[in-house]
Amino acid sequence: MLKRAAHPASLSVIFNRLEKFYGESKPPYPTDPYEMLLHRNCGYPQSDERCEKGFRALKKEIGLAPQKILDAPDAKLRGVMRPSVMKPELAAFRLKEIAARVLDEFSGDMRAVLKRPLPEAKKALKKFPTVGDSTGEKILLFTKTAPVAAVPSNAVHTALRLFGGDPAWATSKWNAAYRFAQEAILAGLPQNCAVQLRAYLLLKQHAHELCKSARPLCDQCPVSSLCPYFQNNFAK
Ligand code: SF4
Repeated sequence: MLKRAAHPASLSVIFNRLEKFYGESKPPYPTDPYEMLLHRNCGYPQSDERCEKGFRALKKEIGLAPQKILDAPDAKLRGVMRPSVMKPELAAFRLKEIAARVLDEFSGDMRAVLKRPLPEAKKALKKFPTVGDSTGEKILLFTKTAPVAAVPSNAVHTALRLFGGDPAWATSKWNAAYRFAQEAILAGLPQNCAVQLRAYLLLKQHAHELCKSARPLCDQCPVSSLCPYFQNNFAK
């Protein structure tokens, strides 16, 4: 049963407190749409660390230009990806697919694609491997194409807890959970790229550090007094 206990007006208070607690978030990297597509596919299971490690290796050993990736021998590309992914063959295949699509379908210019009407830009992004709604929206936000309320995939459960949704949805009804989180953010924060990006980064950090999926560390949380999940389950 959903209870939207956090009044939208309190979202700015929640994010102010999170920022006071964690400090200002580091700017995201990469923010070029083509590089973001590569970065996402350079680590598996996905984590910032693994993707970053694979992306750095790709940049150093092969280069990021689409033609360089297409020209790289398959065995070399697999070898470069091996330390950061579970299936180097699949990663190498996907990187070549990204490079080929960017060149063949988008004339090598993903930034130009993002200038298209939003639904068209989203559709174009979703043609790439591993890109669904949430990654497409993350790219639109990080590139400051549109002030979309992207929700970090590691923080959907956090948004549900904080904004009055049912945390069980994060495992049983992921799409509905994502949309709930997104609507709560849209209802509670201005549609402005800087504001939405700040919310994205703080939610992600909070989910990583304290509001963990299995065992949230509520006793250390700076927003427990505003959190419906905590208030409903643990407050005396
Ligand atoms: S009080 Fe607990 S459940 Fe609520 S946001 Fe903080 S860590 Fe997460």
